[in-house]
Amino acid sequence: MKLLKITTLILPILFTLNSCDSDSRTSWLPKSKKQQIADSTATADSIKAYLATLPIEKKESLKSGEGLMQVMKRLKIEQQLALQVINALGDEVELDKLRSGKEFKGLFTPDSSKLLEFRYREDIITEHVIKIDSLSDSITYAAITSPTETLYRLVKGKLEKNSTLNKSLIDAGIPSSITHVVSGTLNSKISFKSDARVNDEFEVILKEEYCNDTLLPSRTQVLYTSYEGVRAGFTEAYRFADSDAKSSFNAFYTPLGEALVSNGLRFPLDHIHVTSSFGYRTHPVTGQFKMHNGIDYSAKTGTPVYAVAEGKVVESGYDGTSGNKVAVRHADGTTTYYLHLSRIFANKGTRVAARQKIGAVGNTGRSTGPHLHFGVRTASGQWMNPAKKNMIASPKLSGERFAMLKTQIGEIQGIRVALEAGKQPVLAQKKVETKQKKI
Ligand SMILES: [Zn+2]
Repeated sequence: MKLLKITTLILPILFTLNSCDSDSRTSWLPKSKKQQIADSTATADSIKAYLATLPIEKKESLKSGEGLMQVMKRLKIEQQLALQVINALGDEVELDKLRSGKEFKGLFTPDSSKLLEFRYREDIITEHVIKIDSLSDSITYAAITSPTETLYRLVKGKLEKNSTLNKSLIDAGIPSSITHVVSGTLNSKISFKSDARVNDEFEVILKEEYCNDTLLPSRTQVLYTSYEGVRAGFTEAYRFADSDAKSSFNAFYTPLGEALVSNGLRFPLDHIHVTSSFGYRTHPVTGQFKMHNGIDYSAKTGTPVYAVAEGKVVESGYDGTSGNKVAVRHADGTTTYYLHLSRIFANKGTRVAARQKIGAVGNTGRSTGPHLHFGVRTASGQWMNPAKKNMIASPKLSGERFAMLKTQIGEIQGIRVALEAGKQPVLAQKKVETKQKKI
């Protein structure tokens, strides 16, 4: 009788693995082991003995103003390994956007001496898992994703009397967390101060994801937005998804391929892969814990580096820390910095245009591998987080990307037709994704 009770207690834990809230101490177990427990005719004592061999799970949350390194320290994960784990996670998660309160789990050997797994649940559907195999000294990354359902929603509304665009969007049913996407896109084309009129009409198509009938607000995407008014004329914007989720071309465009971003900055590289974010971190070379005053983008040596906006080259040369460096001062007084270059194509005192090639990615100065360190300094001399700047690769799509945009516009228009008819487009379906790689 006693044994039966224990077994029924264990079983429900073992078989809820694939649901969205799957979050159990045993989810790391191989299938054979789970079967072994399920089939077990062991006595209560041997179950107890078995439980004593289970890894120990420890949880820690990010506190306000902290980086992941402090969480690692509290989990007593040794610094070298902690850095490896942070780097592996940083390839998949935008670490500088982590909010305080986010929880991390470490699974340790029963004697707590070794880290076996590090887990971060991004939301109710995605959990990032980093496994450490101390025997082969290897680290593997996997994302565990629960099935979700995608639903599309067409929202129509009017600019109300004595209201703002933002308020009118919310009143029409756009979540307040996403109105800035719509207004930011429209603002780049329409001057609302002079041209907005009561009863101007707008439309928004939202792509929303559900897991077990629960909306996942952080996954909501705006696919389309339009605005029509007597003075403002007609503007429409389509979301463009480049072949790579990290492409700097991902943005909203008009059917003619014009980018709709309120800020004129362009990315310094065509492909954005952040390896180190702005903020406090342990320096990979010196091991010191200090402020990282820019963003590191990994890229091959020789990759073109572009000026993010028009400006004057105020520094161009070599020093032991920065390597080959270019700094450009822009009209608003901010200065952008491009470090560790293999080559420099801009001389001090000259003017450069936005998107002009000013150098090539390299590994010069204090650097552990080819990358671009990109920094932004305000007019008052303070370093700011470049990720807070709204940047884009190009003001206009052309060639292959423009052809892709046209295809995607066709798809979005198809979605709109279905929604107008009160139906969900046929492409809405459940999908499960798993991603795995060796580090
Ligand atoms: Zn850097």
